[in-house]
Amino acid sequence: MNRIVILGAAESGVGAAALAKVKGYDVFVSDSGHIAENRRQVLREYNVDWEEGQHSEDLILSAQEIIKSPGIPEDAPIVRKVREAGIPIISEIEFAGRYTDAKMICITGSNGKTTTTSLIYHIFRKAGYNAGLAGNIGRSLALQIAEGKDYDYYIIELSSFQLDNMYEFRANIAILLNITPDHLDRYDGSMQKYTDAKMRIVQNQTEEDAFIYWNDDPVISAELKKYGIRARKCPFSIVKKEGMIGYISDGRYVIEYPTPFNMEQESLSLRGKHNMYNSLAAGIAARISGIGDAALRESLSDFEGVEHRLQKVARVGGVQYINDSKATNVDACWYALDSMTTPTILILGGKDKGNDYNAIKEMVRKKCVGLVYLGADNTKLHEFFDGLGIPVADTHSMKDCVEACRRMAKPGDTVLLSPCCASFDLFRNMEDRGEQFCEQVRKL
Ligand code: ADP
Repeated sequence: MNRIVILGAAESGVGAAALAKVKGYDVFVSDSGHIAENRRQVLREYNVDWEEGQHSEDLILSAQEIIKSPGIPEDAPIVRKVREAGIPIISEIEFAGRYTDAKMICITGSNGKTTTTSLIYHIFRKAGYNAGLAGNIGRSLALQIAEGKDYDYYIIELSSFQLDNMYEFRANIAILLNITPDHLDRYDGSMQKYTDAKMRIVQNQTEEDAFIYWNDDPVISAELKKYGIRARKCPFSIVKKEGMIGYISDGRYVIEYPTPFNMEQESLSLRGKHNMYNSLAAGIAARISGIGDAALRESLSDFEGVEHRLQKVARVGGVQYINDSKATNVDACWYALDSMTTPTILILGGKDKGNDYNAIKEMVRKKCVGLVYLGADNTKLHEFFDGLGIPVADTHSMKDCVEACRRMAKPGDTVLLSPCCASFDLFRNMEDRGEQFCEQVRKL
């Protein structure tokens, strides 16, 4: 019997283990850390052997195929050993893709994946389609297939780490929102390697498939020249120009292919320029899948958005507080600031992934009347922003941070948590950071 070993026992690893077991493989799961109790339960339920706190080479290197969780970097010692032994490494999505005939709608990009994926899912469900949600969001694709879910469509959010180990998988509709620097620590500091990972979303697409992408992204445009894209190309832009399948024109949201559709831009529930891109990408995917005018119009207008993404928390003393904790890179913060319509107090800081703040310097000058630093170490922020002449405050806990914002803000201002950084220096994760922000704001 073929042996499959899964490295990492979080959402995707446990799902892959369950599916491999259902498909009759000899399965073993190895995690160098602690395996959470809810994951163990699934492993027990599917009768999967596992270890934690170590990687036993004899048990791992006897596999015919390895499924690596996206969180494990390529330079982890065990991954190197697997490579040396010549054992193929695939991702959970690659594996799961072998066992379903559902249409695959896959979304990637540096920013906007979760929002766009959730919006597409909302549109499909509202239109009465039998669609599932998977990938980087929600439950793993593999576990849903193991459980025998019989969806006609899967809407799948794909990170670059998931794309890294995909080879045969084919996206019927691929969406590439943008490519800006992120996670370069995992790609030897190479933007090209990170870009190559993102571009894997089009590999294996055929003439019957569609490739939806942001026309005005310079990195995507340069890459397209290198690839012979077989799928139907569906570019979108915020302005009307030749060849665009979707765009905004004269206050209207327009889709031209495969059937024309338009609605008032004002009626779209998501706000901000970045969300116009996300709404265009989602709408094109919906039209290609045959979703009708009424269902599309209604679902684009009543989508409630996703937590921690430009989420309005409360208005206190005439000040609007917005939680954009998910803005863990500089580009996301740029778009958040761009969508601000009142003087803004920006909260930024945390675990810096090698940020170049020059990208938001002008935007900060234009929109911000106060900066509140929130991180274990705020030195880099002081060095970069203090000279701009905008009042600053230095804080190291959410309580102090929100208090500093309250002191700085005048009625009519907006306080925006859009920190450009990961959260792990002071918080468990970005959700924890966002929740603590909401909690402190509600106490004001
Ligand atoms: P991802 O899943 O790719 O991290 P999210 O939808 O969770 O994307 O959004 C992450 C952050 O990026 C949020 O702060 C959000 O406001 C911002 N954002 C969303 N869509 C875009 C976009 N198309 N371009 C740039 N920034 C975006």
